[in-house]
Amino acid sequence: MRQKIVAGNWKMNNTLDEGLKLTSEIINMISDEVRGDVTVVLAPSFVHLTRVKSLIKDTKKVHLAAQNCSEHTSGAYTGEVSAPMLASVGVEYVIIGHSERREYFNETNEQLARKVDIALANDLIPIFCCGEALEVRENGLYHEFVCNQVKDSLFHLHDDQFSKVVIAYEPIWAIGTGKTASSDQAQEMHATLREYIGERYGTDIAEKTPILYGGSCKPDNAKELFACKDVDGGLIGGASLKSRDFTDIIKSF
Ligand code: PGA
Repeated sequence: MRQKIVAGNWKMNNTLDEGLKLTSEIINMISDEVRGDVTVVLAPSFVHLTRVKSLIKDTKKVHLAAQNCSEHTSGAYTGEVSAPMLASVGVEYVIIGHSERREYFNETNEQLARKVDIALANDLIPIFCCGEALEVRENGLYHEFVCNQVKDSLFHLHDDQFSKVVIAYEPIWAIGTGKTASSDQAQEMHATLREYIGERYGTDIAEKTPILYGGSCKPDNAKELFACKDVDGGLIGGASLKSRDFTDIIKSF
């Protein structure tokens, strides 16, 4: 039985008051109704982490993620936030390699491998994002492209390290566009990834690796996506900014 995860990636949204209100609403809405085996994760901006943490720390149902971390442990890197800093304020997960970071901040597979290492070394669980652009999907090379992202950033890990990683497949053409992958497209890519992981780490580890889907996941399509055999939850952007939508997605399991 694989871990099921629904993670809200707030991106660069919400003032502090808005973020705290959203967090409180989510806590209240999921209090009794969410299945015990679904892990709910919130990824606010760095400056909101400590305050969101104080709201969620007694709930046990909601966990905290950062949206990024530095590839360095400490030092003269103005504007960066390190994995030890995140761990020290109670962050448990960190999103690594989101397509927006790859695109706007030129993050490479090799750099992301270093971020994954530093996250794991500080007991943070990486939510490693991968996914292809529309042109790669259309030229038919998307399996190879996405598997290479995973290989280049994750396959140096030992078995016990890899076993801690969560993967999020997010086709770029579906992010923020309202155009979600169909459940068949999601399932096909997730199954390909699981098989590829199995070739490197063996079936046991592959079967236990949570692979989340991301890209215009909404209350009206979450049920169908989450019903796919190899889809273990979602990384939710836009719909995680509304408590009702986000909790409806969580309840889609
Ligand atoms: P979206 O974003 O749900 O708004 O498409 C998903 C993501 O970027 O993680």
